[in-house]
Amino acid sequence: MRIILYDEGAAQELSIEEITKYLAQKMEKVKIEVRGNPFVKLPQDKISDYARKIASTKIQEVRQKILPEQEPLYGEIGYEKRRILGKTSAFGILYDGLHLQRVFQETIPRGEYSLECAHIIFTNRLFATWDESNQRYHVRTSIYSIPSVISTTGIVEGPAKPREYYLLKQQYERLGMELTELNDKFKGSFIDYEDRRLTEVIKGYVMQAVFYSLTGDPFCQDKGCRLYNAHWQEELIFAQLESGYEFCQRHTKILKKELS
Ligand SMILES: [Zn+2]
Repeated sequence: MRIILYDEGAAQELSIEEITKYLAQKMEKVKIEVRGNPFVKLPQDKISDYARKIASTKIQEVRQKILPEQEPLYGEIGYEKRRILGKTSAFGILYDGLHLQRVFQETIPRGEYSLECAHIIFTNRLFATWDESNQRYHVRTSIYSIPSVISTTGIVEGPAKPREYYLLKQQYERLGMELTELNDKFKGSFIDYEDRRLTEVIKGYVMQAVFYSLTGDPFCQDKGCRLYNAHWQEELIFAQLESGYEFCQRHTKILKKELS
């Protein structure tokens, strides 16, 4: 197996170098490659083409499923082109994760399109997937496929913060109080922007992508295993930072047998 890492404008706090070292240590048999941005080295007309495709994955309204052939505005395409070239960041935009993943998929060389290669793209783009039962989009941390996509903003915005946080937030907003004070009060209980724990947390998500390639299943039921599919920040922090072990016995065994 090979692991190929791409940086599609992930948060600055993410150290891909540290991730690479971690993977090399965990999996001696596996070759790891770092490739940078998957779009940036393409010719200009290709970049414009991808900019249009990415712009068409933008969600306009969280309660409205986007159409596959949604035609973006000229300005939106221009924005995405600047974003690809690293001239602006993507804050404030929400993308349809599955559509976005398919655009990323087109950049994967044909000869490497297999589960033998775990392609993993880090991005700071915030994406969501459509939930049929609630008829709305929900923010996601990651999508596991070829390639897998892990969002550094999704780690912050995807898993829910403590219930008390939302209750107090409503109060603060009603009273017109500063939210910074509220965030200080809950400091540490969720992964925030510019959080120094981000790289450590992302290691677990990278391993979920690796297990997806290896077994077809990125997740584990064990709440202390790094492969636990956390829906709350509290669960995420426990699985990735506080449980006292990295992987459950079953996953430790698979890792040893297959990859090291
Ligand atoms: Zn496990």
